[in-house]
Amino acid sequence: SAKLIVRKLFKSYESAGRAVSILRDLDFTLETGAAASIIGPSGSGKSTLLYLISALDRPDAGSIELLGRDMIASSEKDQTSFRNAHIGFVFQDHNLLPQLNVLENVLLPCLAGNGVDPEKEKFAIKLLKRVGLKDRVTHRPAQLSGGERQRVAVCRALINQPELILADEPTGNLDPQTATVIGDLLLEISREQGAMLLCVTHSLELAYRFPVCYQLEEGRLVVVDRSAETATT
Ligand code: ADP
Ligand code: ADP
Repeated sequence: SAKLIVRKLFKSYESAGRAVSILRDLDFTLETGAAASIIGPSGSGKSTLLYLISALDRPDAGSIELLGRDMIASSEKDQTSFRNAHIGFVFQDHNLLPQLNVLENVLLPCLAGNGVDPEKEKFAIKLLKRVGLKDRVTHRPAQLSGGERQRVAVCRALINQPELILADEPTGNLDPQTATVIGDLLLEISREQGAMLLCVTHSLELAYRFPVCYQLEEGRLVVVDRSAETATT
């Protein structure tokens, strides 16, 4: 059954005094544990869609239901705690705090609650081992390579075992080889944890590693037909 259901979504922004519509009657669903990628030109509204799904922004019209919850009606305060518990984010620029070490950065989403419990710390170490960063636990972000930082960001997105992982250009600043490693890690770990994964990317190579790939086109999501590619390989 679909755990993320987006219906008739509309969003526009003011620009030079006029409303410019970005998302127009967009429909989208994601089943439990499913993964999908979204491609589309810069400015087509990919980030906007992720913001709306996570209730960081509000649509003009339409509905968004995540895990049975209405993501539009609830109060901002409720949304924040729901988001921390159920959604993990991976951004292009990792957003790690430079003054915290790797372990502390991974545990950051837990600090909002009642401090860090030892179980979370154990899980953080397990995740860091899983992505090959066992020996980087006490390093600061500045001491890491771009790919290592992004692996830390992946661990941080997973620390609360979210049902939904949203990745916004997670490999945008990495060389192609490192990008592939990060993309595969996201796909593998989200599958292991039974999480849904929605990934926005400019990289066709990354996008096509997903079971379903959408293009954001004129405000709607259209499934990219990859049969032509598969036929030639
Ligand atoms: P991308 O998602 O392609 O990495 P961004 O999300 O950073 O890019 O921004 C895409 C475009 O949206 C840019 O042209 C940026 O200037 C514009 N943009 C982003 N946030 C705002 C905002 N708060 N107000 C106006 N324009 C914005
Ligand atoms: P993408 O992620 O596909 O690059 P975005 O969702 O970031 O696209 O942006 C879509 C369009 O919406 C862009 O034209 C951008 O300038 C505009 N936009 C995004 N956020 C804002 C905002 N907060 N205020 C005004 N315009 C915005």
